[in-house]
Amino acid sequence: MNSFKKVLLIILASSMLLSTVACAADSKDSDSAGSSSDLESSSASETAGTEKSDDKDTEKETKKETETKAPEKETSLVIPSVCKPLTEVPKFTAATYSATYPSGDGIQQLYYTGADASKINTYVNQLKTLGYVKTEDNSINGNRFVTCYGKGGLVHISYLNHNKSLSVILNELKNSVYKYDEPKYTRVTDQTLAVMSLDYDTHQDTVSGGNHDASGMSYVVTLEDGRYVIFDGGYGKAADHHILYNYLKDNNKRKDGKIVIAAWIFTHDHSDHYGGFVDFSSTYGTQVTLQYYLMNCGNKDRYDQKPSGWLPGTSADGGLPHYCLDVYFKTAKKIVPHTGQKIVFCNTVFEILSTQESHTPSKMQWVNDSSIIVRMTANGVKTVFLADAEAQTTKLLINMYGTSIKSDIMQIAHHGYSGGSVDLYQKINAKWSLWPTSQECFNERTSHGGNASSAKSQNVWAKQNTTCYVGDDKIEILKFVGGSAKISVSEYTPNKNKV
Ligand SMILES: [Zn+2]
Repeated sequence: MNSFKKVLLIILASSMLLSTVACAADSKDSDSAGSSSDLESSSASETAGTEKSDDKDTEKETKKETETKAPEKETSLVIPSVCKPLTEVPKFTAATYSATYPSGDGIQQLYYTGADASKINTYVNQLKTLGYVKTEDNSINGNRFVTCYGKGGLVHISYLNHNKSLSVILNELKNSVYKYDEPKYTRVTDQTLAVMSLDYDTHQDTVSGGNHDASGMSYVVTLEDGRYVIFDGGYGKAADHHILYNYLKDNNKRKDGKIVIAAWIFTHDHSDHYGGFVDFSSTYGTQVTLQYYLMNCGNKDRYDQKPSGWLPGTSADGGLPHYCLDVYFKTAKKIVPHTGQKIVFCNTVFEILSTQESHTPSKMQWVNDSSIIVRMTANGVKTVFLADAEAQTTKLLINMYGTSIKSDIMQIAHHGYSGGSVDLYQKINAKWSLWPTSQECFNERTSHGGNASSAKSQNVWAKQNTTCYVGDDKIEILKFVGGSAKISVSEYTPNKNKV
């Protein structure tokens, strides 16, 4: 599960232009199209059409359905026309400067210790005088995360209370965008979370333990306007991508019939998470629209364990997801999420609890620890996705958030193999748990000798204290029906056939 040696034979299609009709509808003015809230450092923002709703059927539906606005964001944002470049952003003086860490994509992380958090407002005011606007301000358990944006780029301030560290992250947005707002949209369906079934019969990793290493992870969120957000998408070299596409197609509620993926979240650089995307791209890339993708893998120097193929230059395959994005999803925009930010699609909030940069100055012992940890809030229900968090990340999450990480649904860390802890799971205190592994491995995760011994106790705890969902031979769809921790569950039969 930790390497992806597959030689990808991609026939370069002569034209893979994707439809942009349904591309990011990001008008911050409610009724005027073309005012994009993808904030890039260049003055020219890309204009995207708003969601079309001019057919008769939709007009009828609109009467019954609510036009909704994404929550928790300001509705207008005025960016000063004059802005100093990021090179002129001052140091944070109420702390001890330690070092600057390159963080990939031209991003710099200025790291401080002994920070006085009460001086963050003063620092933000300094940024304002340079032409930057505060766009986000999120406090969790004594941590504080502030994002400022200007024509010079993005400044993200991350204060971690457990070690009094402060990072000033500078992103000129040359290779990525800052997504600020969501437009009004027409509600066509309920928010759901699909626990995808994977093709475990095919992709069991015999090298790492035969039937007892069924990894892979794929979850699909349906937004109220019918778009999707995908977590990872499954393993390569299997039918995971067929199962995924069939699900997207068969459950598409959009009036225009288009399959629109608002965002693809790549949690980290392991092929049991991005391999399905590689296969999906070459097979179905022309049949869907991908608007955004999220990655934050950082600089390769930040790892003790060499990444397997994600970062350019670290693998013979040159970073397969990047290659597929360049070939099949040319119009998709990259978001580099930072810890503490909230990224909103429709009214579903994706709060970033940790990225690789939260580990600074420590190196990540495992690539798994670079996992982007996300807490999703959908109709009042909180779901925390732990991806492949190992012990290092588990400890970090406890230190950063304590019991404020409480959620209703918890994705078990690292397929229930290692990572996670009873302490973390108790603090999350979820009623439901999602197990990204096969039914066979789920059954054995509390007893099998091949399992990491440290994982058994938390797996036992999770099985005893949560209702468990395992995506194997059936896709379970959790529908968020409103209020705190209210869900309903239905099943959908996975289809492994190529369409
Ligand atoms: Zn994995």
